Amino acid sequence: MHNDIQQVLIDEEQLQNKIREIGRDLTEEYKGRFPLVIGVLKGALPFMSDVAKRFDDHLEMDVMDVSSYGSGTVSSGEVKIIKDLDTSVKGRDVIILEDIIDSGVTLNYLISMIQHRGAASLKIVTLLDKPEGRQVELVPDTAGFTVPDEFVVGYGLDYAEKYRNLPYIGILKPEIYKGS
Ligand code: 5GP
Ligand code: MG
Ligand code: MG
Repeated sequence: MHNDIQQVLIDEEQLQNKIREIGRDLTEEYKGRFPLVIGVLKGALPFMSDVAKRFDDHLEMDVMDVSSYGSGTVSSGEVKIIKDLDTSVKGRDVIILEDIIDSGVTLNYLISMIQHRGAASLKIVTLLDKPEGRQVELVPDTAGFTVPDEFVVGYGLDYAEKYRNLPYIGILKPEIYKGS
């Protein structure tokens, strides 16, 4: 365990078991439909990579970066497109992969955008769900794990761009982000 981590909430084995299950379910639902899987940068990258490897048919991958957070731990409530999709979603079966849904502001914006662009269907799959943080009404179709209303890092989730490479989800020691 990294020295900055106070507690591991979800270990590598739990993560990988869940991802295998999500991959299997998506395969069953989307086989033969060539879904467009959209990962929200940068947090969803490890999740997207691992889920895609468990999807047992063709899929297309694209990424976009929509940000409502700065480098701190509190949402600014503001959504910005940093990088748009390369692919047209029109008529496609779209699956959005997210690292975590907290306030729901970011995803809410993305969902309207993708519906507005004419996707045939849309499914929201998040690795983590933090329902206590919700500021808009949003229930994911699939949530790997429910987490308490605490700031978590690892497996894509950062604090000041660090810790995305941890293979588990954990909570930082308070002294690491003291004063931000
Ligand atoms: P929302 O718009 O739902 O509040 O937050 C969306 C984004 O904020 C997430 O995709 C993630 O990048 C970031 N975020 C929300 N909660 C956490 C958290 O507990 N830890 C980290 N590292 N990022 C978070
Ligand atoms: Mg994200
Ligand atoms: Mg972040």
